[in-house]
Amino acid sequence: MTTPPSIVTLNLHGIGAPVRELEPGEDEVWITVRQLEDVLDAVAGRPDVRLTFDDANASDVEIGLPHLLKRGLTAQFFLCAGLLGRPGRLTRDGVRELVGSGMPLGTHGWTHRDWRRLTQPEVIEELVRAPQVLSEFTGQPVTEASIPFGSYDRHVLRRLREAGVTRAYTSDGGRAAPRSWLQARNSLKRTVDAAWLDQVLDGAPALPRRARNLAARTVKRFRG
Ligand SMILES: [Zn+2]
Repeated sequence: MTTPPSIVTLNLHGIGAPVRELEPGEDEVWITVRQLEDVLDAVAGRPDVRLTFDDANASDVEIGLPHLLKRGLTAQFFLCAGLLGRPGRLTRDGVRELVGSGMPLGTHGWTHRDWRRLTQPEVIEELVRAPQVLSEFTGQPVTEASIPFGSYDRHVLRRLREAGVTRAYTSDGGRAAPRSWLQARNSLKRTVDAAWLDQVLDGAPALPRRARNLAARTVKRFRG
């Protein structure tokens, strides 16, 4: 299969009813099961679309995984190793289930700290210990990282390179070159709908055509 010239990465967080108290603003990126299904149906069969999940929510394995498998889709799961087993988060069994289902892992740090503001001990925990813990599940080094809150500066990127990260995922939006070290991603928000998806996947068509297409596509892809 030929590699597409550019790719779109969609990043998911929690799905369904939250089973823990969310961080301030976290509900902005929490979607419904129906939204998940519509998005996965829309991207199935598109080699230019990649899927990632951040934050190690329990819904990764309870909701996300079965819906991916049903469609033959793969997503990469970026986990916070220090949050495993906490209420509403993935358990160690859940991580094993993801790995056993063929889903690649990446690191999202230890406890979801802002990587621009780390003390030296925290740097070790976030960038060294976290991927080490995940590698025990995969049996091989975990070298790809997604940046908590999408918060980074040149110091964060330097630290990631020094830590041996082979690919770093942001939340900057837009498309990315498939082999780029820095990969922009598009976060699914609770407002995700057919219009947003059309724009992210294919660019925004001219308004009249877009308005015409939207009615048909909304019915086809987004039920209710
Ligand atoms: Zn996150």
